[in-house]
Amino acid sequence: MPADCYGVPPSSLRLRLDHDALAANWRTLDTMSGAASAGAAVKADAYGLGARQVVPVLREAGCEDWFVAHWSEVPDLLPLVPPSRIAVLHGPLTGADAAYARAVGVRPVLNSLSQARLWGEAGGGPCDIMVDTGMSRLGFSRDELGGTLTAGLEIECCHSHLASADEDVAQNAAQLSAFRDVRGQVAARRYSLANSAGIALGADYHFDLTRPGLALYGGIARPELADVIRQVAHPEVAVLQVRDISAGDRVGYNATFVAERAMRIGIVSVGYADGYLRCWSGKGSLLRDGVSLPVIGRVSMDMTAIDISHASDCREGDWLEIEYRPEEAARITGLSQYELFTLLGRRFSRG
Ligand SMILES: *Cc1c(COP(=O)(O)O)cnc(C)c1O
Repeated sequence: MPADCYGVPPSSLRLRLDHDALAANWRTLDTMSGAASAGAAVKADAYGLGARQVVPVLREAGCEDWFVAHWSEVPDLLPLVPPSRIAVLHGPLTGADAAYARAVGVRPVLNSLSQARLWGEAGGGPCDIMVDTGMSRLGFSRDELGGTLTAGLEIECCHSHLASADEDVAQNAAQLSAFRDVRGQVAARRYSLANSAGIALGADYHFDLTRPGLALYGGIARPELADVIRQVAHPEVAVLQVRDISAGDRVGYNATFVAERAMRIGIVSVGYADGYLRCWSGKGSLLRDGVSLPVIGRVSMDMTAIDISHASDCREGDWLEIEYRPEEAARITGLSQYELFTLLGRRFSRG
């Protein structure tokens, strides 16, 4: 038989998604959004968890509005949800982007007068707009609204984005007040301001539609969410080799770990190329039947060593869970919860 008749064997690295927790997180955020509906930010492959796996779960939970950043992220969603409910946050940069949006029926989020012009030249149609209320990132300035270009738009949803909703700072109220003014200036079918953290800021911030991302995936965007949001992403890895080492033996690149006593170690199939960055060296841990097995020495590109002295029946081929609780992982590594999710690499099988 030719070699390509054989399927590729399963990966030694998998990202287990807790579907119940994912659905429950969306329902929690939708309930917390009060009279507004919660949509879902599924950009960056659903924050690295896999849009093709995540979207059907959220859709069955009741989610109807979807946000991606790039046009290249649309095709994964098209077989799963109605195109008219997909909004592309970066908007059209070229005529080809605008033509694509019209051809497949997704909505661009227009961020500037030049994008509004492109959209009009392509024939226009339902669109969203993003208005900057104090973040100086993407979006129309408020003084650009009200001209003939924006007046002619068919606006499905008018958005703005909060810069500091994860903090208790005056900027939140300032952006809220600015967005209320925008609502008076711009006619749209719906208005939307809050991301995950913004939902926890209270009813004033909810308007008609909220746009959670991080909290859907188990991230704790604000303390109010800590007790109601559940962990969704469970990275798991196979043990490649088990070995017994003696006092004085060195482990890994640059021998940053030297055994003080005889011990048993395991080499697992995850490394920095998978997003398990070197900042986990000597700090991370894996779980086996509730026993925590510490990472020792440096994380390599494809491998990591762990101390399995307290799990002496651990065997090659066993599966272990990488401890990856978002808040704690962020504290240990200094990375943001967003980075921790989106880092998880393509060698993880997802599902
Ligand atoms: C990414 C993004 C969101 C989601 O933000 P989270 O903090 O992950 O909830 C919402 N709105 C916009 C415009 C975004 O870019």
